[in-house]
Amino acid sequence: MPELPEVETVRLGLAPALEGHVITQARIRRGNLRIPFPPRFAERLTGRKVERLTRRAKYLLAALDSGETLVIHLGMSGRMSVYAEGHRQKLGNYVYDKAPDGAGDGKHDHVVFETDVPARIVFNDHRRFGLMTLVATDALDQDKLFKDMGIEPLSDKFNAAYLAKALGGKKTPVKSALLDQRLVAGLGNIYVCEALFRAGISPKRLAGSLKKDQIAPLLKAIKSVLKDAIAAGGSTLRDHAQATGDPGNFQHRFLVYGREGKPCKGLASSSEAVGHKKRCKDTVKRIVQAGRSSFYCPACQK
Ligand code: ZN
Repeated sequence: MPELPEVETVRLGLAPALEGHVITQARIRRGNLRIPFPPRFAERLTGRKVERLTRRAKYLLAALDSGETLVIHLGMSGRMSVYAEGHRQKLGNYVYDKAPDGAGDGKHDHVVFETDVPARIVFNDHRRFGLMTLVATDALDQDKLFKDMGIEPLSDKFNAAYLAKALGGKKTPVKSALLDQRLVAGLGNIYVCEALFRAGISPKRLAGSLKKDQIAPLLKAIKSVLKDAIAAGGSTLRDHAQATGDPGNFQHRFLVYGREGKPCKGLASSSEAVGHKKRCKDTVKRIVQAGRSSFYCPACQK
Protein backbone atom coordinates (compact mmCIF):
# COMPACT_ATOMS: atom_id res chain seq x y z
CA MET A 1 0.00 0.00 0.00
CA PRO A 2 1.47 3.35 -0.94
CA GLU A 3 2.48 5.54 1.98
CA LEU A 4 3.18 9.27 1.97
CA PRO A 5 6.48 9.15 0.03
CA GLU A 6 4.96 7.06 -2.76
CA VAL A 7 1.99 9.41 -3.10
CA GLU A 8 4.28 12.45 -3.05
CA THR A 9 6.42 10.81 -5.75
CA VAL A 10 3.30 10.32 -7.90
CA ARG A 11 2.32 13.96 -7.29
CA LEU A 12 5.73 15.20 -8.40
CA GLY A 13 5.50 13.13 -11.58
CA LEU A 14 1.93 14.23 -12.34
CA ALA A 15 2.54 17.94 -11.79
CA PRO A 16 4.22 18.75 -15.15
CA ALA A 17 1.27 17.21 -17.01
CA LEU A 18 -1.50 18.55 -14.81
CA GLU A 19 -0.64 21.63 -12.77
CA GLY A 20 -1.51 24.80 -14.67
CA HIS A 21 -3.03 22.69 -17.43
CA VAL A 22 -6.55 22.17 -18.75
CA ILE A 23 -8.24 18.78 -18.70
CA THR A 24 -9.43 18.66 -22.29
CA GLN A 25 -11.11 15.28 -21.99
CA ALA A 26 -12.07 12.94 -19.15
CA ARG A 27 -13.04 9.35 -19.87
CA ILE A 28 -14.67 7.55 -16.96
CA ARG A 29 -14.68 3.90 -17.90
CA ARG A 30 -16.76 2.43 -15.07
CA GLY A 31 -19.24 3.63 -12.45
CA ASN A 32 -17.15 3.42 -9.33
CA LEU A 33 -13.88 2.60 -7.63
CA ARG A 34 -14.13 2.02 -3.87
CA ILE A 35 -17.06 4.46 -3.89
CA PRO A 36 -19.20 5.63 -6.83
CA PHE A 37 -17.88 8.51 -8.92
CA PRO A 38 -19.75 11.78 -8.33
CA PRO A 39 -22.67 12.66 -10.66
CA ARG A 40 -21.70 14.19 -14.03
CA PHE A 41 -18.07 13.48 -13.15
CA ALA A 42 -16.60 13.78 -16.66
CA GLU A 43 -18.61 16.93 -17.36
CA ARG A 44 -17.39 18.62 -14.17
CA LEU A 45 -13.76 17.90 -15.10
CA THR A 46 -13.76 18.65 -18.82
CA GLY A 47 -12.43 22.08 -19.77
CA ARG A 48 -11.31 22.79 -16.20
CA LYS A 49 -7.85 24.10 -15.44
CA VAL A 50 -5.91 22.51 -12.58
CA GLU A 51 -4.69 25.49 -10.59
CA ARG A 52 -2.71 23.55 -7.98
CA LEU A 53 -1.76 19.94 -7.43
CA THR A 54 -1.06 19.28 -3.76
CA ARG A 55 -1.17 16.36 -1.35
CA ARG A 56 -2.82 15.81 2.02
CA ALA A 57 -1.59 12.63 3.76
CA LYS A 58 -2.13 9.96 1.09
CA TYR A 59 -4.62 11.96 -1.01
CA LEU A 60 -3.76 13.89 -4.16
CA LEU A 61 -5.68 17.16 -4.48
CA ALA A 62 -6.13 18.84 -7.85
CA ALA A 63 -7.75 22.24 -7.25
CA LEU A 64 -9.82 23.16 -10.32
CA ASP A 65 -10.73 26.64 -11.56
CA SER A 66 -14.40 25.72 -11.00
CA GLY A 67 -13.97 25.92 -7.21
CA GLU A 68 -14.02 22.13 -6.86
CA THR A 69 -11.08 19.91 -5.97
CA LEU A 70 -10.53 16.53 -7.58
CA VAL A 71 -9.56 14.20 -4.72
CA ILE A 72 -7.62 11.07 -5.67
CA HIS A 73 -6.58 8.14 -3.46
CA LEU A 74 -4.49 5.34 -4.94
CA GLY A 75 -5.86 2.69 -2.57
CA MET A 76 -3.76 -0.47 -2.46
CA SER A 77 -2.65 -0.74 -6.05
CA GLY A 78 -3.64 2.43 -7.95
CA ARG A 79 -1.24 3.93 -10.46
CA MET A 80 -1.32 7.25 -12.26
CA SER A 81 0.71 7.04 -15.46
CA VAL A 82 1.58 10.02 -17.62
CA TYR A 83 2.23 9.62 -21.34
CA ALA A 84 3.38 12.32 -23.71
CA GLU A 85 1.35 12.63 -26.90
CA GLY A 86 3.20 12.18 -30.18
CA HIS A 87 6.68 11.35 -28.93
CA ARG A 88 8.76 10.77 -25.81
CA GLN A 89 9.12 14.11 -24.04
CA LYS A 90 10.84 15.78 -21.15
CA LEU A 91 8.50 17.90 -19.04
CA GLY A 92 9.94 19.52 -15.94
CA ASN A 93 12.31 17.02 -14.33
CA TYR A 94 10.71 13.94 -15.87
CA VAL A 95 10.83 12.13 -19.18
CA TYR A 96 7.52 10.61 -20.29
CA ASP A 97 7.12 7.86 -22.83
CA LYS A 98 4.87 8.24 -25.85
CA ALA A 99 1.48 6.67 -25.16
CA PRO A 100 1.60 3.09 -26.45
CA ASP A 101 -1.35 1.82 -28.52
CA GLY A 102 -4.28 1.16 -26.22
CA ALA A 103 -2.92 3.20 -23.29
CA GLY A 104 -6.07 3.91 -21.30
CA ASP A 105 -8.12 1.13 -22.92
CA GLY A 106 -6.97 -1.69 -20.61
CA LYS A 107 -9.31 -3.67 -18.40
CA HIS A 108 -8.06 -1.93 -15.27
CA ASP A 109 -7.64 1.54 -16.81
CA HIS A 110 -10.60 3.17 -15.07
CA VAL A 111 -10.13 6.89 -15.66
CA VAL A 112 -8.27 8.63 -18.49
CA PHE A 113 -7.54 12.35 -18.70
CA GLU A 114 -6.19 14.21 -21.69
CA THR A 115 -4.57 17.55 -20.87
CA ASP A 116 -3.49 20.44 -23.10
CA VAL A 117 0.26 19.69 -22.66
CA PRO A 118 -0.73 17.50 -24.57
CA ALA A 119 -0.46 14.52 -22.27
CA ARG A 120 -2.54 11.48 -21.35
CA ILE A 121 -2.96 10.47 -17.72
CA VAL A 122 -4.23 6.96 -17.01
CA PHE A 123 -5.51 5.83 -13.62
CA ASN A 124 -5.08 2.06 -13.42
CA ASP A 125 -6.13 0.07 -10.36
CA HIS A 126 -6.57 -3.69 -10.54
CA ARG A 127 -7.87 -4.01 -6.98
CA ARG A 128 -10.09 -0.91 -7.07
CA PHE A 129 -9.55 0.23 -3.48
CA GLY A 130 -8.74 3.65 -4.90
CA LEU A 131 -11.06 6.63 -4.91
CA MET A 132 -11.81 9.70 -7.01
CA THR A 133 -14.30 12.32 -5.98
CA LEU A 134 -15.01 16.06 -6.19
CA VAL A 135 -15.24 18.28 -3.11
CA ALA A 136 -15.83 22.05 -2.92
CA THR A 137 -12.32 23.48 -2.41
CA ASP A 138 -13.32 25.83 0.40
CA ALA A 139 -14.99 22.95 2.29
CA LEU A 140 -12.10 20.49 1.94
CA ASP A 141 -10.91 20.70 5.57
CA GLN A 142 -14.41 19.96 6.87
CA ASP A 143 -14.99 17.04 4.49
CA LYS A 144 -15.35 13.64 6.17
CA LEU A 145 -12.18 12.44 4.46
CA PHE A 146 -10.05 15.16 6.06
CA LYS A 147 -11.73 16.60 9.15
CA ASP A 148 -10.18 14.18 11.68
CA MET A 149 -6.82 14.00 9.99
CA GLY A 150 -3.68 14.90 11.92
CA ILE A 151 -1.01 17.31 10.74
CA GLU A 152 1.44 16.69 7.91
CA PRO A 153 4.73 15.12 9.06
CA LEU A 154 6.79 17.27 6.69
CA SER A 155 5.12 20.53 7.75
CA ASP A 156 6.62 22.99 10.25
CA LYS A 157 3.68 22.28 12.57
CA PHE A 158 5.11 18.81 13.14
CA ASN A 159 7.85 19.94 15.53
CA ALA A 160 9.40 18.75 18.80
CA ALA A 161 6.83 20.57 20.97
CA TYR A 162 3.94 19.01 19.07
CA LEU A 163 5.46 15.51 19.12
CA ALA A 164 6.26 15.70 22.85
CA LYS A 165 2.69 16.73 23.60
CA ALA A 166 1.18 14.15 21.26
CA LEU A 167 3.14 11.25 22.79
CA GLY A 168 3.14 12.54 26.36
CA GLY A 169 1.27 10.36 28.85
CA LYS A 170 0.32 7.77 26.21
CA LYS A 171 0.37 4.16 27.40
CA THR A 172 0.40 2.72 23.88
CA PRO A 173 3.62 1.60 22.18
CA VAL A 174 5.33 4.43 20.31
CA LYS A 175 4.99 2.40 17.09
CA SER A 176 1.19 2.34 17.36
CA ALA A 177 1.01 5.99 18.43
CA LEU A 178 2.92 7.10 15.33
CA LEU A 179 0.55 5.11 13.10
CA ASP A 180 -2.44 6.99 14.56
CA GLN A 181 -3.54 9.15 11.62
CA ARG A 182 -5.23 11.65 13.95
CA LEU A 183 -1.84 12.44 15.49
CA VAL A 184 0.17 12.69 12.30
CA ALA A 185 -1.23 11.90 8.86
CA GLY A 186 0.32 9.72 6.17
CA LEU A 187 2.85 7.75 8.20
CA GLY A 188 2.57 4.02 7.56
CA ASN A 189 4.20 0.82 8.74
CA ILE A 190 7.36 0.90 6.62
CA TYR A 191 8.46 4.42 7.45
CA VAL A 192 7.59 4.22 11.15
CA CYS A 193 9.77 1.07 11.45
CA GLU A 194 12.61 2.79 9.61
CA ALA A 195 12.30 6.04 11.58
CA LEU A 196 12.32 4.24 14.94
CA PHE A 197 15.48 2.40 13.92
CA ARG A 198 17.16 5.64 12.84
CA ALA A 199 16.19 7.19 16.18
CA GLY A 200 17.37 4.15 18.20
CA ILE A 201 13.96 3.76 19.82
CA SER A 202 12.33 0.35 20.31
CA PRO A 203 8.85 0.02 18.76
CA LYS A 204 7.77 -1.56 22.07
CA ARG A 205 8.57 1.55 24.13
CA LEU A 206 5.47 3.16 25.52
CA ALA A 207 4.94 6.52 23.83
CA GLY A 208 4.70 8.34 27.15
CA SER A 209 7.99 6.84 28.39
CA LEU A 210 10.21 8.59 25.85
CA LYS A 211 12.76 10.88 27.45
CA LYS A 212 12.82 14.54 26.57
CA ASP A 213 16.11 14.17 24.68
CA GLN A 214 14.65 11.40 22.50
CA ILE A 215 11.93 13.57 20.98
CA ALA A 216 14.14 15.70 18.70
CA PRO A 217 16.04 12.67 17.26
CA LEU A 218 12.72 10.89 16.63
CA LEU A 219 11.30 13.94 14.88
CA LYS A 220 14.43 14.27 12.76
CA ALA A 221 14.35 10.54 11.92
CA ILE A 222 10.71 10.70 10.77
CA LYS A 223 11.30 13.72 8.54
CA SER A 224 14.58 12.45 7.12
CA VAL A 225 13.28 8.97 6.29
CA LEU A 226 10.31 10.50 4.44
CA LYS A 227 12.51 12.97 2.55
CA ASP A 228 15.03 10.26 1.63
CA ALA A 229 12.23 8.00 0.40
CA ILE A 230 10.70 10.78 -1.72
CA ALA A 231 14.12 11.54 -3.22
CA ALA A 232 14.44 7.82 -4.10
CA GLY A 233 11.05 7.78 -5.86
CA GLY A 234 9.34 5.91 -3.01
CA SER A 235 9.50 2.19 -2.25
CA THR A 236 8.24 -0.40 -4.72
CA LEU A 237 7.25 -3.58 -2.91
CA ARG A 238 4.38 -4.60 -5.16
CA ASP A 239 2.48 -2.05 -7.21
CA HIS A 240 3.99 1.38 -6.71
CA ALA A 241 5.26 3.05 -9.84
CA GLN A 242 6.13 6.67 -10.44
CA ALA A 243 4.09 8.63 -13.01
CA THR A 244 6.82 7.89 -15.56
CA GLY A 245 6.30 4.15 -15.00
CA ASP A 246 9.63 3.74 -13.22
CA PRO A 247 9.69 1.87 -9.91
CA GLY A 248 10.83 3.53 -6.70
CA ASN A 249 14.24 2.68 -5.25
CA PHE A 250 13.98 3.21 -1.52
CA GLN A 251 13.21 -0.49 -0.83
CA HIS A 252 16.91 -1.16 -1.45
CA ARG A 253 17.76 1.15 1.42
CA PHE A 254 15.55 -0.34 4.14
CA LEU A 255 17.58 -0.84 7.29
CA VAL A 256 15.04 -2.99 9.16
CA TYR A 257 11.74 -3.27 7.25
CA GLY A 258 11.32 -6.77 5.76
CA ARG A 259 14.80 -7.79 7.02
CA GLU A 260 13.84 -10.30 9.74
CA GLY A 261 16.78 -12.56 10.65
CA LYS A 262 19.25 -10.54 8.58
CA PRO A 263 22.31 -8.82 10.12
CA CYS A 264 21.60 -5.41 11.62
CA LYS A 265 22.99 -2.57 9.53
CA GLY A 266 23.35 -0.32 12.56
CA LEU A 267 26.34 0.88 14.45
CA ALA A 268 26.30 -0.05 18.13
CA SER A 269 28.38 1.91 20.64
CA SER A 270 31.63 0.17 21.42
CA SER A 271 32.42 -0.49 25.05
CA GLU A 272 36.11 0.05 24.32
CA ALA A 273 36.13 3.76 23.64
CA VAL A 274 33.46 6.36 24.11
CA GLY A 275 32.37 7.75 20.77
CA HIS A 276 33.97 4.94 18.83
CA LYS A 277 31.39 2.93 16.95
CA LYS A 278 31.49 -0.57 15.57
CA ARG A 279 29.10 -2.64 13.52
CA CYS A 280 26.17 -4.11 15.48
CA LYS A 281 26.34 -7.91 15.66
CA ASP A 282 22.64 -8.51 16.32
CA THR A 283 20.00 -9.53 13.78
CA VAL A 284 16.74 -7.79 12.88
CA LYS A 285 13.70 -9.12 14.75
CA ARG A 286 10.02 -9.08 13.79
CA ILE A 287 7.15 -8.77 16.23
CA VAL A 288 3.45 -8.16 15.61
CA GLN A 289 1.92 -5.03 17.16
CA ALA A 290 -1.75 -4.16 16.64
CA GLY A 291 -1.85 -6.65 13.79
CA ARG A 292 1.13 -5.11 11.95
CA SER A 293 4.69 -6.37 11.69
CA SER A 294 7.33 -4.31 13.44
CA PHE A 295 10.94 -4.85 12.40
CA TYR A 296 13.67 -3.68 14.78
CA CYS A 297 17.06 -4.41 16.30
CA PRO A 298 16.95 -5.12 20.04
CA ALA A 299 20.61 -4.03 20.41
CA CYS A 300 20.30 -0.70 18.61
CA GLN A 301 16.79 0.27 19.70
CA LYS A 302 15.95 0.79 23.35
ZN1 ZN B 1 21.60 -3.36 15.73
